[in-house]
Amino acid sequence: MGIDRMMEKAMKLVKQSRVYRTDIGQYEVVGDHGTYRVVKTPDGMLHCSCLGFQQRKKCSHVGAVVIFESRHREKAEWWKY
Ligand SMILES: [Zn+2]
Repeated sequence: MGIDRMMEKAMKLVKQSRVYRTDIGQYEVVGDHGTYRVVKTPDGMLHCSCLGFQQRKKCSHVGAVVIFESRHREKAEWWKY
């Protein structure tokens, strides 16, 4: 899967509200084939429980969390000013 295709899929997951924050640095993403856990390591890296991530070190679920986080950060900053 190319990076564009992956980010397209990631954007779809966010738009369909299939990303849930379960705890600080912990997320659940409801993919087409199941629900995956995405966790942030202390050094800020994201890890996903899906097979694609184990093989390629990237996946649409991690991409979805990146988009999800950036949106919430923007919102938080908007409220601050
Ligand atoms: Zn994944």
